[in-house]
Amino acid sequence: MHNHKKSKNKSRQNSTALFFQNLNKNGHDRIIIKDLINYMNENGLIKDDPRLDSFFLKINQMNGINEITFEEFDKLLNESKALFEKMLREQLIIPEFKKFTHQIQKIYSQVKLNKDGVVANYIPQLKKVSPESFALSICTLDGQRFSLGDHDKPFSLQSISKTLNYCLALEENGEAFVHRHVGREPSGHGFDEITLDNYKRPHNPFVNAGAIMTNSMVRPDLEPAERFDFVMKMWKKASGIGEPTFNNSVYLSERNTADRNFALAYFMKENNSFPENTEILETLEFYFRCCSVEQTTESMAAFAATLANAGHSPLTEQQVFQPSTVKNCLSLMASCGMYDFSGEFFFSIGLPAKSGVGGGLLIVIPNLMGVCLWSPPLDSLGNPVRGIEFCKHLVNKFNFHHFDSLTLRHAGKVDPRVKSSTKVRSSE
Ligand code: GLU
Repeated sequence: MHNHKKSKNKSRQNSTALFFQNLNKNGHDRIIIKDLINYMNENGLIKDDPRLDSFFLKINQMNGINEITFEEFDKLLNESKALFEKMLREQLIIPEFKKFTHQIQKIYSQVKLNKDGVVANYIPQLKKVSPESFALSICTLDGQRFSLGDHDKPFSLQSISKTLNYCLALEENGEAFVHRHVGREPSGHGFDEITLDNYKRPHNPFVNAGAIMTNSMVRPDLEPAERFDFVMKMWKKASGIGEPTFNNSVYLSERNTADRNFALAYFMKENNSFPENTEILETLEFYFRCCSVEQTTESMAAFAATLANAGHSPLTEQQVFQPSTVKNCLSLMASCGMYDFSGEFFFSIGLPAKSGVGGGLLIVIPNLMGVCLWSPPLDSLGNPVRGIEFCKHLVNKFNFHHFDSLTLRHAGKVDPRVKSSTKVRSSE
C-alpha cells in the first residue's frame, strides 16, 4: 500500500515535471503563468470553475509575479491535484479539446447564417428578445467548458424548467407515486392540448399539463416564497456555476395570457388527476414562476453535464440527483422532449434533449457532456431552428447518436474521446 502510494506520488512528480519542462520554453527553470493558464483554457479548464478557486486565489495573491519555479508550480497545483494530473497526462474525457472545440466553432458559424424561424409571441414579453441572440455552451464530465456568442446573457427557460421539476418530483415522491399522476408516453398532441390518457393522467411531464402536475408534487408543504427559493437553490446546485435569475415581466406576461394553462389545471382537477390536497392556484403560480426563471447557456450546459454524469455535478463534484432519477428524466427527454418533433429528433439525432419556447435547447450526451444552445427563432413545431440545425451537424461529424456504435465503422464519424494518434494506431 505504502509502496503503491509512493510510486503514485513519484509518477505524479514525473508528469508534473514533464509538463513543467514543456512549458519552460526559455530554459530559465521558470514558467510563465500566462502560458499555464492558456494551456488550461485550451483544455477547457476556465476561471470560474469552483474546483479551481484555490488555484486562482493563489495566483491573485502572487500580485503580478508572472513567472514561477518548479516548486511554486507544484504547490500551485496542490489542491486540485487529481484534475491537473488528468490534464497533464492528456486524460481528460476529451483529450484534444482544442481540436474538438475548433469543429464546434465551425458548426456554430455555419448555423449562425440560418435566419429562419419566428420568435415566440404568445407570451408577449418573449417576443421582445432579439432574434439575433445566439449562444452555445458545452461542459464535459471532466468540467471542460467552452462557450460562444451570448453565453453570458440569461435566457427564459420556459419548458426547459420542466426537466428540473420532474427530477425534483421524483426525488421527493419516488417513481411510483409520480407516475400514478403523470404518464410517460408521447402525447401525439400539441404541448398545451387539453387531453389526458386512459388513466386520466397527463401524458408526460414535458407537456404543459404534465409539468403542472409534476410541479404540484414539488414541495407543496412550503409556503410559495420558500417553495420558489427551493427551486432556485436546486437550479444553482444542479448547474454548479452561475446564478439563476427570475424575470418578473415574463412571469406577469405569462400569467396574463395563461387561459390555456388554467383550463388544463381545472380539467385535471375535474378528473381527480392531482394528488390529494393539491392547491390548484398555488400550483399554477408556481408553474408560471418556474417557467420565468432565466439562466445562461454556460450554467445550463453545466446542468446538462450533471445529467450526463448520472446526477453528479462535474464542477462541484456533488451528487445532486440519484442516478435513477436522471435515467428516468433522460428517457423521457429522449421520447417526449422536443414537442411534436420528438420521434423525428430521436430518430435522426439520437440524443435526449429538451427545448423551450424561449429558444433554449438542452442536449445531453450521456457519459460525455452537456450542451446548451440559445437562439430565439422557432420553427413551426416550436423548436429553435438554429438549435436543431446545430444538432444535425453535430451528429453528422461526431459519433453521438445513441446507436452510432452499430454503424460506426462505416460512417467515418469522429470519436472525440479518443486521441487522434491512438486512432491511427488502432486502424493500422
Ligand atoms: N410557459 C410556457 C407555457 O406554459 C412554456 C411553454 C414551452 O416552453 O413549451 O405555455
